[in-house]
Amino acid sequence: MSVLLELNEVSKRYDAPEEQKVTVLQDIDLSISEGEFVAILGPSGSGKSTLLRIIAGLVKSTSGTVSYLGQPVVSANPGVSMVFQSFALFPWLTVLQNVELGLRYKDLSPADKRSRALDVIDMIGLDGFEGAYPRELSGGMRQRVGLGRALVMEPDILLMDEPFSALDVLTAENLRRDLLELWLEKKIPTKSIIMVTHGIEEAVYMADRAVVLSRDPATVIADIKITLPHWRERKDEAFTKLVDRIYSILTYSRANEATSVQKSEAQKKYTPLPHVPSGALTGFLELLDDLEIKSDLYKLADELMFELDDLLPLVEAAQMLGFANVSHGDISLTDVGKDFAATNVLERKEMFQTQLRSRIPIFGRIRWVLESKRNRRMPREFFLEVIRKSVGSEAAEGQLDTIIDWGRYSELFAYDESSRTLYLEDEDELQAE
Ligand code: ADP
Ligand code: MG
Repeated sequence: MSVLLELNEVSKRYDAPEEQKVTVLQDIDLSISEGEFVAILGPSGSGKSTLLRIIAGLVKSTSGTVSYLGQPVVSANPGVSMVFQSFALFPWLTVLQNVELGLRYKDLSPADKRSRALDVIDMIGLDGFEGAYPRELSGGMRQRVGLGRALVMEPDILLMDEPFSALDVLTAENLRRDLLELWLEKKIPTKSIIMVTHGIEEAVYMADRAVVLSRDPATVIADIKITLPHWRERKDEAFTKLVDRIYSILTYSRANEATSVQKSEAQKKYTPLPHVPSGALTGFLELLDDLEIKSDLYKLADELMFELDDLLPLVEAAQMLGFANVSHGDISLTDVGKDFAATNVLERKEMFQTQLRSRIPIFGRIRWVLESKRNRRMPREFFLEVIRKSVGSEAAEGQLDTIIDWGRYSELFAYDESSRTLYLEDEDELQAE
């Protein structure tokens, strides 16, 4: 396989005004060959977009070299084009004009530009929308235009920066499949695709190789071949195994982020919770139970007159707690979820508590802390500090609100609003009363 792109010890420092220089990328070595679909994964803020921009020649590295077909890239890389997360369309231009824009520097006659743009519009499924303006299009269609503008240039390498992350689940899945089909069936002359993503499943679904970055600064911590045949099934054991493996590499690197102080167990694996009150969640599970069969999320959102985005936190919470499964856009209750929906309030609380303790580490830890204290009380501030380390100050308060709501509902612990204290109710005392 011939090498298309080569990065050698690429480092990037930004000058931060108050602090000193911040090293974002450190000695990145990467070689990309013809025929490869490479996913770049890393925690948010690790430097994935920066790396992609350096490859495109839009940002200069501080040291190291990038070469395309053996030639150093000094300004805009002639072999690539980019699809952005934010679509980056011009609102005052039509679909056709936006796509044609990709050809503005190409030495082609206006007629040739037009016909190439029309071909691409056809290919990406926007036939009939040539004259539409971006505001008239759904998010998914806008991203198709973004993709079209990149493809019309017939780049050797297609760069994509989280291209599906601004789309709802099903629209994203459609677009993934369509792009994959173009690529696998060689309907596009693209020789390689580099996709930045924070979706591990997305990477394992689409790519042949997953390059995993650490952060502060970003270095390549894993480069994993994905050899599963297409089309891949997310439920297959080989698929989920690979997802788990990459997941553990990413979380391990997160747990080892650059702090000199060794982090405690408590900070290692905090996964932010969706902001869903326990009451809303139980209601949602009852509804799913009443609907009996598995439901298409889109239809469900429609029937509830919810935006799909409003439904997603509920779906995510139900999944996190092991009450529901989602696959291919359908949601269904697990056995635990069915039992939960069918039983009485007391048993529900118990089941909820079991799920919290077994599936979300922070709940076990809070309980452990409270049990370890002689007075069985701990100020909210204490836990806030722990969570703040993982999600930042802004998000921490909201996270703790949700944790407390779920914890109280399940009677895993109690909470006193006036003293802002989490505590355990004394069971003996309760019985004595
Ligand atoms: P990612 O795409 O992985 O989320 P980015 O490449 O966008 O990460 O950013 C990596 C880091 O570099 C972040 O800490 C970000 O704040 C910083 N950064 C990005 N662009 C600039 C810039 N132009 N000036 C200073 N810092 C920047
Ligand atoms: Mg980014």
